[in-house]
Amino acid sequence: MKIICVGRNYAAHARELGNEVPEDPVIFMKPASALLPEGADFRYPAFTRDLHYEAELVLRIGRPGSHLTATEALNHVDAITVGIDFTARDVQAALKTKGLPWEKAKAWDQAAVIGKWQPMRTGDFHFSMNKNGEMVQQGDTTHMIFSFDVLLAHISEYFSLEQGDVVFTGTPAGVGPCVPGDVLEGFFENQSVFILKIHA
Ligand code: ZN
Repeated sequence: MKIICVGRNYAAHARELGNEVPEDPVIFMKPASALLPEGADFRYPAFTRDLHYEAELVLRIGRPGSHLTATEALNHVDAITVGIDFTARDVQAALKTKGLPWEKAKAWDQAAVIGKWQPMRTGDFHFSMNKNGEMVQQGDTTHMIFSFDVLLAHISEYFSLEQGDVVFTGTPAGVGPCVPGDVLEGFFENQSVFILKIHA
């Protein structure tokens, strides 16, 4: 199982980090070991002083495929939810300055949190996340630069999609820091799909 992530898929978020809006999807990966096991405590990593949440819609691959067309791509997705692409922003900034790969900022143990899976359907999706009871991020598929079908077609040109793979589809504006004691709650449509406490 692998975790494929999309960067800069909402124009407002690309701008808030001072990045250009991309012409092609920005793709990176996290290993399976980055997934926070269900029920495990999330712990603030020792190597960062600027841990950021990025709430994202996450797709689960139900049927393998490669070189998919946009038209057929969504038939390979069987579930959807909201997750967090945790990012050590200070580490990422240092790596970006030097033009180095950013796995140390995004692919560490527990850097991928995935909510309760919901059955996939067609149409548009809305999601949001609260920090300590206040909404900090909300997104809507209608605001994505690259839609799910275009993303999956692009990804599968390079990487075979296997059953159980997951795809983080990018974060909207509003990313920010979290500290021990904070509680993050993700909502798919209006349904709560995860409650995550940041432990010291
Ligand atoms: Zn992200």
